[in-house]
Amino acid sequence: MPPKTAAKTRQSRRSKKPGVAISDAIRLLTEAYGPFENEPRLDPAHELVFTILSQHTSDRNSERAFRNLMHTFGTLEAVAEAEVAEIEEAISGGGLARVKAPRIKDVLGMILELNQGSLDLHFLAEMPMDEARKWLRQLPGIGPKSAGIILSFSLGMPAMAVDTHIFRVSQRLGIIGPKVNADKAHEVLEAAMPPEDVYPFHAAFITHGRQVCKAQRPRCGDCVVSYGCPSRDEEAIRQAAVSAEPAETDPVSRETADNDRPDGQAPGRRRRRKDAPTPVPHTQVVKEIQP
Ligand code: SF4
Repeated sequence: MPPKTAAKTRQSRRSKKPGVAISDAIRLLTEAYGPFENEPRLDPAHELVFTILSQHTSDRNSERAFRNLMHTFGTLEAVAEAEVAEIEEAISGGGLARVKAPRIKDVLGMILELNQGSLDLHFLAEMPMDEARKWLRQLPGIGPKSAGIILSFSLGMPAMAVDTHIFRVSQRLGIIGPKVNADKAHEVLEAAMPPEDVYPFHAAFITHGRQVCKAQRPRCGDCVVSYGCPSRDEEAIRQAAVSAEPAETDPVSRETADNDRPDGQAPGRRRRRKDAPTPVPHTQVVKEIQP
């Protein structure tokens, strides 16, 4: 290869390389937010139902729905025998109850059918991970993320579960390319790290996405991996554009931002009502919903 072409190829390879190695990102983010212990929280069948309830809703809503479902029926075997309308009523506080009730009923029915009348899914831990994932994915409404959650959180297997935060942070850091969709990201990310890194990666990236690398306004100034993040400048430019928008288009926002607030709060931030309920910590709720 002529020297000029070889140099060009090397340069283009260098420019495509993500700025932060995945192992460095896991280490730095774990130092910032960890350490993380993967302690199973629910048995696999309960985790599966909880995962269905948590689709497209907040943690708080899904926890409330799950707690009420177990309070109403006592066991998943009883849920499997219940009418869809009864399940729907029990999970009505969790959102999308009309969709999720028949799905829960169908999933439990199918497990009973495939697993000789038992809802015990611990046998999955004895299978090679790809087979266990395939088994779960034959169930209605169980995609790669839900399967990953059950295998990882309940059975301690090194399965990837890519949620919106993990997907966003991985894309911004250049660990996955812009054309990789969420389903494909499971394969790409799982192949990009050794099995023992999968859970720390999950916990570190999700925490980073929630606390610092937020969807609308990433706090790049507080980010421990910003030194090599290929999106850092892009995000700074986008944020500058976003903060300029209300001043030009929204007279109410402009008025709030231009005046010192007598309550000393940041512009646009609401004061918490005195009688508002105190938020319950997530860990406490998870403990309470253990069957
Ligand atoms: S530098 Fe900014 S965009 Fe990049 S990972 Fe950190 S917070 Fe996210």
